[in-house]
Parts: sequence; structure tokens; C-alpha cells
Amino acid sequence: MKLWFLRTYVIFFLMPTLPVQAAPLRCALPLSHFFEEGSRPQTELKFEKGMRYRVQLKSDPSLYNLKYKGLSAEGDHILHEFIGTKGAYYRIPMEDIFAARPKGMAYTHFERWLNTAKEMILKSQALARQLFLPIQDLAQKESAVQVVGTGRSSLKGAEQIAERVYGFDQHFLSLGFQRPLKTLIWYEDRSLLPDFYGPFALNAEVINRPSQKIADATISTGRDSQYVNDTSLLLHERTHTLLNRTYRSEAWVLENVRFEEALSDFFSAHWLDAPVIGDNGTGSAIRNLKTREARLGLRSYNRKDLLSLQEKPEEHLDSLLISHALWSVREALGKELLSESLKLIVDSLNKHHQSYQESLRAEGREYTEGPSAATYDLEYTLVVLKKLNQSDWQKTSVDEVISRLVQEYQLSDTRIERLAQKLQKSEADFSYVDHANDENNIKAWRYGVAGLAVDTAIIASPIIYGLTYLF
Ligand SMILES: [Zn+2]
Repeated sequence: MKLWFLRTYVIFFLMPTLPVQAAPLRCALPLSHFFEEGSRPQTELKFEKGMRYRVQLKSDPSLYNLKYKGLSAEGDHILHEFIGTKGAYYRIPMEDIFAARPKGMAYTHFERWLNTAKEMILKSQALARQLFLPIQDLAQKESAVQVVGTGRSSLKGAEQIAERVYGFDQHFLSLGFQRPLKTLIWYEDRSLLPDFYGPFALNAEVINRPSQKIADATISTGRDSQYVNDTSLLLHERTHTLLNRTYRSEAWVLENVRFEEALSDFFSAHWLDAPVIGDNGTGSAIRNLKTREARLGLRSYNRKDLLSLQEKPEEHLDSLLISHALWSVREALGKELLSESLKLIVDSLNKHHQSYQESLRAEGREYTEGPSAATYDLEYTLVVLKKLNQSDWQKTSVDEVISRLVQEYQLSDTRIERLAQKLQKSEADFSYVDHANDENNIKAWRYGVAGLAVDTAIIASPIIYGLTYLF
């Protein structure tokens, strides 16, 4: 399949290399007969370099000998080139030869050309069709989650995705989070296009179902990517959508990418009871919330101390500082109590950041995006968890978790304690507001698990369409 794809392009790229001469010398002589030299019975006319032909011109009984040189093009015309007996150079239009060939003789080269052209059209159209294959309904769960894909997509996979997203949603709805009214998931598990990298989120619109562009949320899954059926990644991306439908974009957990990524990992891990994202049964997860190890591209990283932040600063990697703290608190509280407290935790992260920033300012520090931002994010997470433990959980096990993290990251216990006491709740309302067409509304459906398929389709389709139009 991949070779097929390559070949189509090879044909396109080779096309312009056919010799096109600026001043063509076309055969000015009207052809009467054109046939191959030799007396063997012939059923088809072949053209090979060096082969000899005999040409008879209209109202001229004499035969001319020509040696075949090759093919060239001039404007819309395809020309055969010959060298005459005295070195004269002839270019004879293909259609002239076609008309002058012996009766009943197939014109192989012409047909081959026709077939090549036809093949190109068919293949480019097939590719275009693949990209614009009618999107079909594959699976549905209530009216909330609909999975669509092409006829190539696996129905079983689509059903599983609908079930999983729906079940995940129900749990987090019961905890106080919101979801879009309707979600359209584009499931492309068997695309022809190769995997370049991924998985990642993207803004995927369903191209040939314009009416569905207004779907509240679109998750697109990548293609033959090994991650296409990975539930932890699907739910990670789904959490982005839930968070964006629960809070407005000014909310700290959405304004700060590390928090958004950390929560997306954590919701998924919490629901699946496994602290791994993108494990896919390989035993080597993209991110492990418990061990704080991660993969990015071909390399492995960890976030076990603050020094590790120097190595490849990146939001998903740095988010492990936050998600590991949350996972550790989950271990201390247990699954049930953590579930009950989850909305409170996320709300608290939103409502206290202003106050935390003011405390920093009073110390002459400023929270700004930069090398130390991830460290401040970790400290802020611990401060909020400390405060929640003081007011709500009152568990020594949570204090122990915080102390362990303070030690591992070489922060200060007394400082965390002091900042927690000073923490004030903001009166600002960070709840999502549902106004059609506003920024929040649009943002809510910008996430998906994906390989490059949809991206590639969007980029490549005008090119492919343009090429098919030429034929
Ligand atoms: Zn994410």
C-alpha cells in the first residue's frame, strides 16, 4: 500500500523530465504508411531505441528509412523522434503514426502511453478518494458520542472507542465536570498514509461532512499508528475536551499547558487505574506518572529531580512533576476519595493561583514563563494539596507524600506550609460559558489523538485535487 502511494508520486515527479525541446522540428511530411522494418508478421507496433522503421509519404511511392531515437513532447503533443538515413532529424506526432500504422496493428507505445496516463488518473483519483472517502457512521453511544470514519475503518474498534469515551464521560460528569453536548470522533485506523510521528492532538474537522463541522467536539484517532487503539491516549485527549468544556480559557489549568497536560494524563490514569500513558502493551509507556519516566521521540527522560528539568524542557515531560504529585496523593487517599475530591482539586488549582502569585511578588519574585516556571508549578501544586489536606482530607499519609516530594525536589517544607496558610481563594468564576461561536466554544473541540493522517489529508488534498484536475 505504501509503495503504491510512493509510485503515484514518482510518476508525477518524473513527468516533467520528458524532453521538451524549445524549437521542435516536426515532420513536415504527411505520412501515408508507417511500419516496422522486417518481414516478420507483426501484430503490434513497438518503439525501442535503435529500431528501424519504414515510412511512406502521401502521393510518394518511395520508402524512407528511419531509426527510432525516443519520445519527446511539445505542448499537448507527444512526438516520436527519428533519425533519417542522411542524418535528418524527424519528430512525428504520435497521432500521425497512429493513423498511418498498418491496419489491424495495435499501436503499443501509444496504448502504453494511454494506459500510463489512465493509470495516473486512476491512481491519483483513488488517492483523492481515499482522502475524501465518504465519512460514514461507524458507532454511536446515545446521542452524545458518535464515531465516524471511512469504509476502511474497523467497526469493532469504533464501537470500543464510543463505549470507552462514553463510560469515561459518565464518570467525570458525575464528579462535576462537563462534556460537549455532542462529540464526533473521527476514527481512522487504516489509512494508506504512513505514520510520520505522533500521537498528538490536532484540530480535526470532518472534511466532507460540512454539516458536522459544528460538532461540539472532534477527536481524531491516528491511523495504523500503534497508538490508534490505545485507550489511555484516547482518554488523555478526551480530558482536554472535558476540561475545556468545564472551565473557561482564563482558568489556570487551561492557561498553563503543563497543568492541562498533567490533568489529562491524570484523569486517564485515574480512570484506568494505571499510571501509564501510551503503554499499548509494550511495557514502555510514553509517560509513567508513578516512575516519572517518559519518552519523547526516540529518547527517554525523567522528571525525578529539578536538575532533570534542564534536559529537554517540554510541557508533556514537565507536566510529570504535577501528575506524579497527583498520582502520589491518589495512592495516599485511595481511588474513591480521590474521585470525590477531583473537582475540588482542579477548582482549587484555578482559584488559588492569583494568591500564590501575590505571595511570590511579596518575596520579590515574579511568576513568568521561563526556566523556573515548571518548578513554581510544582511548588504551587504542593501548596494547594497541602492546603486541601489541612482543610478537607486531614491525612498524615498526604503530608508524608508532600514531604517526600519536597525532599526529592529539594524544596522547603516550611515554605510550602507558610504559602499554604497564606493561600486565598479567588472570587472569579472560571466556569465555562456556553456562547455559540465564542473562543471557548471553538477551543472545546480542538483536541484529538492522532497520527499525521488528518493533517496530511488536509495538506495533501488540494495538491492531489490539483493534479487530478490536470488530467
Ligand atoms: Zn495533551
